[in-house]
Amino acid sequence: MKIPDMFSNDRTVFSFEIFPPKKNTGIETIYKTIDELSSLKPDYISVTYGAGGSVANTSTRDIASFVKNRCGIEAMAHISCVNNTREEVVTVLDGFKEAGIENILALRGDKVKGVEPKTDFRYASELIAFIRSKPEYDFGISGACYPEGHTEAPDLTTDILNLRKKVDAGAQELISQLFFDNAFFYEFREKTRLAGINVPISAGIMPITGKSQIERMVTMCGASLPRKFVRMINKYEDRPEALIDAGIAYAADQITDLLASGVDGIHIYTMNNPYIARKITGIVGKLR
Ligand code: FAD
Repeated sequence: MKIPDMFSNDRTVFSFEIFPPKKNTGIETIYKTIDELSSLKPDYISVTYGAGGSVANTSTRDIASFVKNRCGIEAMAHISCVNNTREEVVTVLDGFKEAGIENILALRGDKVKGVEPKTDFRYASELIAFIRSKPEYDFGISGACYPEGHTEAPDLTTDILNLRKKVDAGAQELISQLFFDNAFFYEFREKTRLAGINVPISAGIMPITGKSQIERMVTMCGASLPRKFVRMINKYEDRPEALIDAGIAYAADQITDLLASGVDGIHIYTMNNPYIARKITGIVGKLR
């Protein structure tokens, strides 16, 4: 099924994101993780694409194929283009198609320090336009969006105008970067509608599992940390198990508020941790 079609009824679409293990040694663990996540019956599971973007690494395809063909859960495979030529992108897309994958998240990807970016696709919108120009690729296409603005964009308005190009090129649904303050998401959603962006927008929620994770995320994506979130970290930073449960409670609170606001979708960055996904689903699963 095409994921954008899931948004046609009144129910909020619920999805999980996982990443391939760093080395092949983790492959059995990821399959066990997927089994556990599948039992929670998300609408789909998405699989990230390595920042380096090597075509030889087929783990995104293989894991997405396992999700769809072995677990019977709809799958979304991420693809990025910043480190790939047009031919390499075609190889990856052909692999997705052969594996029966129907949905992709089309990204530019992060520039890797010390690696000269490839120039065939400068932005995700160019990748999406390319895929849309090829009738043989009948994928449901989603794109990324940034409630607090992308880190490279001069301001949120410019970023939203660029986002409009991505939607005009053919992105049918958007998934947001993580945020810890729902106010940013609501303001962003309002502004995208004013900019004429009318596709569904799913809210990306990352339950916090540790202090170092937060530091990494803030550096990487520049998410603001609201005062009550910082208070929570300060209180539980020396008690890792308590911090995980506090992070789950915080994320569940965010999701409850988003559901009440009529959010189109909730996309949980699971960090490959079924405990977190199970706990959150247990709290908010019946609310959608
Ligand atoms: P773009 O949409 O191309 O935007 C990048 C920048 O260029 C923005 O500042 C934008 O304002 C600007 N821009 C866009 N179009 C134009 C234009 N026409 N003219 C001028 N400026 C323009 N990374 C991975 O490597 N692998 C993953 O699997 C992955 N999954 C992700 C999942 C989600 C839900 C999200 C939110 C992000 C994910 N990322 C992933 C991170 C993403 O690759 C980075 O945030 C990257 O820096 C931007 O990718 P993009 O597709 O949003 O880029």
